[in-house]
Order: sequence, then C-alpha cells, then structure tokens
Amino acid sequence: MHEFSVMDSLMKLLVEHADASGITRVTRVRLVVGRLRGLDLRQLRGCFEILVEDTLAKDAVLDIESVPPAGHCRTCGADFAIPDYTLHCPHCGGGEVDITKGRELHMASFDGIRETAADA
Ligand SMILES: [Zn+2]
Repeated sequence: MHEFSVMDSLMKLLVEHADASGITRVTRVRLVVGRLRGLDLRQLRGCFEILVEDTLAKDAVLDIESVPPAGHCRTCGADFAIPDYTLHCPHCGGGEVDITKGRELHMASFDGIRETAADA
C-alpha cells in the first residue's frame, strides 16, 4: 500500500525532528498533500493511526491540507486551476503547461510539548 510507505517515512521524519528538538509528546501534525499524488486521505489517516502507536505522536491530531492542482501556461503566462486534469491552458488553449501545484507531499509543521523529567 503506497499510503503506508508514504506515511511511514513522514512519521520517521517527524519522530526524528521531535526528538532533536527535545519534544516528548507531539500534539498536532500538519501534512500538505497534493491531489496529483493520488493518495487516499482516509487511508493516510488510517496508516497514521497505526504508525503513531507507541511513539511520542500517539495522541497527535492529524491535519491534512489537500492541494488542488494548478498550472502555469508557458505560452501566455496565465496561472489557473486544473479541475479536470487536462493540461491545456483555458486562456489561450496552449498545451505547454507547467504544473505548479498539486504535487506537494510534505510535513508542514507539528506542535509538541517538552515534558521534563521533573514533571513525570
Ligand atoms: Zn495560455
């Protein structure tokens, strides 16, 4: 399952970053996922639940920002949304279109708490 390996690497990164900043409990994770990635957000959430078990992110809330695809026309310079996945400029009809949005896949940020040994 593609979703699982994607989430697995994101969560490894998260734990690494949290550890490095002395965070003992992650409370919220924000992911940015472009729709062109073809990832099922429900499956991503399911994988998240499994992967964070027994980690410092086990109680974290997962926010996923789903980014709709957008393009930039090389011919006329127009920027536009790509609602139906066709790569033609709606302004001049040109086919030289660069994808500018929709391929994102990263962790935007996370919130965490630093609990000292004295609080435990
Ligand atoms: Zn154009």
